[in-house]
Amino acid sequence: MSYKSDIEIAREAQKRPIQEIGAKLGISSNDLVPYGHDKAKISQSFINSVQDRTDGKLILVTAINPTPAGEGKTTTTVGLGDGLNRIGKNAMVCIREASLGPNFGMKGGAAGGGYAQIVPMEDMNLHFTGDFHAITSAHSLLSAMIDNHIYWGNDLEIDTRRVVWRRVVDMNDRALRQITASLGGVANGFPRETGFDITVASEVMAILCLANNLKDLEKRLGDIIVAYRRDKTPVYCRDIEADGAMTVLLKDAMQPNLVQTLENNPAFVHGGPFANIAHGCNSVIATKTALKVADYVVTEAGFGADLGAEKFMNIKCRKAGLAPSVVVLVATVRAMKMNGGVAKADLGTENVEAVMSGCANLGRHIENMKSFGVPVVVAINHFVTDSDAEVQAIKDFVVSQGSEAILSRHWELGSEGSAELATRVAEIADADMGNFAPIYPDDMPLFEKIETIAKRIYRADEVLADQKIRNQLKDWEDQGYGNLPVCMAKTQYSFSTDPTLRGAPVGHSVPVREVRLSAGAGFIVAVCGDIMTMPGLPRNPAAKSICLSDEGEIQGLF
Ligand code: ADP
Ligand code: MG
Repeated sequence: MSYKSDIEIAREAQKRPIQEIGAKLGISSNDLVPYGHDKAKISQSFINSVQDRTDGKLILVTAINPTPAGEGKTTTTVGLGDGLNRIGKNAMVCIREASLGPNFGMKGGAAGGGYAQIVPMEDMNLHFTGDFHAITSAHSLLSAMIDNHIYWGNDLEIDTRRVVWRRVVDMNDRALRQITASLGGVANGFPRETGFDITVASEVMAILCLANNLKDLEKRLGDIIVAYRRDKTPVYCRDIEADGAMTVLLKDAMQPNLVQTLENNPAFVHGGPFANIAHGCNSVIATKTALKVADYVVTEAGFGADLGAEKFMNIKCRKAGLAPSVVVLVATVRAMKMNGGVAKADLGTENVEAVMSGCANLGRHIENMKSFGVPVVVAINHFVTDSDAEVQAIKDFVVSQGSEAILSRHWELGSEGSAELATRVAEIADADMGNFAPIYPDDMPLFEKIETIAKRIYRADEVLADQKIRNQLKDWEDQGYGNLPVCMAKTQYSFSTDPTLRGAPVGHSVPVREVRLSAGAGFIVAVCGDIMTMPGLPRNPAAKSICLSDEGEIQGLF
């Protein structure tokens, strides 16, 4: 049997006008700012007007450690949202926007898959409503104003060797990683080394996604540290006086984008911070607005639960005052097999034993999520190649861990396939069994916060860090940054910092190579491995086979 591709299914979608989707949430067309017929932003006045309403239930979708076999978090998020609507609930989905650049490297797509997708998926993966372009512009304005300040006399006494604000572009372009700027003579300023990151790695992105409103956005932008003086004192964005104009550029980008699923249910797609040097979830403003207009909000955290969900809980929920009612942990038979040591080429062969040994990874994620005080349901995202015995092996394992696993077939069947999962998730959310709390308090010393995550979530024996790093953390504590949460940047493929260690490794240590302060976003980044903030293109970029058909349809992107 052959299956349609994601784009083929998306093209057959019977989309409804965006006003009809807004109406499902009680948002009138006056409160929608339409971008064409199938996308709209929610007006600021509407957002202001719903602040006193009670919140719906927040449902977090996360997963085991990712493998090349694919887990399907977004697909399951969308499928579960449709499933909840199918059983009569007023539910919506909240996910991230996609970065444009990476689509031209590998075949991409961040709108779900099969019969659990968000449409219009081409738009969502490309320019969409222009939010990321606005972020690039706001970031670039600050970059330009820093060099301009130096050019006109440098009253702030910026040490040009210590400018930490780089430049961004939404394109995979390794040639720009490290550059020399201001070459060409007196009229072009003072030559200095700098470089480009991809837009989603910009601190402006993290700020937009954590800010509660436009005032908060402006304050956080002002708090960005852009450079240091010779005496090592920080120079802020506020000192450069760029925060006001940046806020103006970001005004519309702050408003959540409303789109729909293949089944015409509402979805906010808003914001998309990197999941390593930032926290990797959609905007706080989208999640909070969704909770005001829907009874159930299904949202996704990037990477596996050790990174994405940990940051969702310890950074986003802590800062925004959110509390998930239930965690849905996505697992697949294929990924369990890979965690159990099977090579990608052999995934097609039934192997119950490998599934069982790979379940160690799942078990640890279940325990970890429960340690935040939130009930956990495992969603087995069904692939048509899975055997019944393999699925049963996961179910039995999960029961032995004191949880439950439900097979969900949304990819193949849409909401018909996820109704059982939705029913159970709604029951658990309604039962208010959760007692959510982050796993460390604000006032814990910064190094201890890193240790808490490493020991309790990664199950490492110790954290290794040079004195220099420990001193840096102490300095930040003295400067008043000690109450910030920690954003861990490590490989997503393992609980450890070694991407090849699958399953549930023990006895490892977590080396912290570097720490960074994102003072505007409001977290300390602990870098525990190679992190790439400007990806490159592969030898044969997908862009080579992307084109427009005679009918004007996009070919080769998905
Ligand atoms: P994640 O959010 O975890 O990165 P996605 O939901 O974006 O994963 O899915 C990644 C890819 O895997 C998509 O192309 C999607 O179509 C595919 N996929 C997801 N679930 C299934 C499934 N059950 N069967 C087949 N393909 C799937
Ligand atoms: Mg995803």
